[in-house]
Amino acid sequence: MPASGSPSLTAPPLDVDAIRADFPALHQTLYDGRPLVYLDNAATSQKPQVVIDRVRDFYARENSNIHRGVHYLSQQATEAYEQARETVRRFLNARRRTEIVFTRGTTESINLVAATFGRSRLERGDEIVVSAMEHHSNIVPWQMLCQERGARLRVIPVDDRGELDEEAYRRLLTERTKLVALCHVSNTLGTINPVQRMIADAHGLGIPVLLDGAQAAPHLPVDVQALDCDFYCFSGHKVFGPTGIGILYGKEALLDAMPPWQGGGDMIETVSFERTTFNELPHKFEAGTPHIAGGIGLKAALDYVEARGRTALARHEDALLAYATERLTAIEGLHLIGTAREKTSVLSFVLDGIHPYDAGTLLDRLGIAVRTGHHCTQPLMQRFGLPGTIRASLAFYNTTDDVDALVDGLHRVRSLLA
Ligand code: PLP
Repeated sequence: MPASGSPSLTAPPLDVDAIRADFPALHQTLYDGRPLVYLDNAATSQKPQVVIDRVRDFYARENSNIHRGVHYLSQQATEAYEQARETVRRFLNARRRTEIVFTRGTTESINLVAATFGRSRLERGDEIVVSAMEHHSNIVPWQMLCQERGARLRVIPVDDRGELDEEAYRRLLTERTKLVALCHVSNTLGTINPVQRMIADAHGLGIPVLLDGAQAAPHLPVDVQALDCDFYCFSGHKVFGPTGIGILYGKEALLDAMPPWQGGGDMIETVSFERTTFNELPHKFEAGTPHIAGGIGLKAALDYVEARGRTALARHEDALLAYATERLTAIEGLHLIGTAREKTSVLSFVLDGIHPYDAGTLLDRLGIAVRTGHHCTQPLMQRFGLPGTIRASLAFYNTTDDVDALVDGLHRVRSLLA
């Protein structure tokens, strides 16, 4: 699909046609031959051919278990997996490779911190601060922990634009606060939170901060040293890599002090029936055979993004977001939910008199993939008094043509359903 321009949009400084050629899933037709318009990138992104090839090649030629074999294949696989860890370290600008723990995804990373750091530190009467725009995976693990410990979850309110109330946040921070757990970018609103400032506020009182970077890592440069966050989590499948692989970054001193989580192979140093000693970081948190192909595939995805130029990709997405915002808000009866001043390319909206699910189903018949519903942010939906929204989320391979197809589709939806 050509990356056509609009008169109100300066041409994106990116060869989007060349980029699209790298993603085979984008070139299919659905139903009665309609070209796929994929606008569900916040749920998961498509994979470039280099990632697909890398995973296939691993299974075809290198497949072996890692860390404990002396034979050739095991050494090759171990080296590839540990190189992937180094690539993630660079992607996040972490200080050390030992600060990068492979998990199954953002959800597992957060659960790991809750089960180890949280369980070892939280006492009755303590508090954990989250925001009203969190994904369920950055609410429920803390809620479960609070219930277990007799602790309390405190919630930073969100204003009508979809921005956090920072005054209220500062008031929530007290000597009872043991952790702030906050999304870097909201999956429903697209809001980029002022995390640098919020981390500084928390650190002023000695409170550690976990950032859920699931929606930030695919769009923004992330520098954990500059942010000075204590934990950072993201998922491979949202950054153009495989499913089932994710990352927990933690400052070394914190990870070192935390008890291990799951027990099993690889996370131990010695085992006897009397006593077990644990492996060094990061292996202490990586029990059992990991998703080796996933880690290696993630490296291929991050290398791809790096090679295409993170700044150029982000610039294209920003231009596309501006274009999509302009075009969508011109549709009668359409209301954007989430109009923060700092946003990534997520457009949540409702249409007067039309249920999001009906709109999503009709758009699907036109080949347009959007998400409808609560987007795993039910408390946020309650805050806005909505059962759900329609969410179009963009990636760097999307074009103004994709946005135009969505707008045409929405006019069709309105003519049929309104
Ligand atoms: N946090 C945010 C902000 C998300 O958008 C998502 C997924 O949509 C998650 C966490 C959970 O990610 P995963 O399902 O990959 O663990």
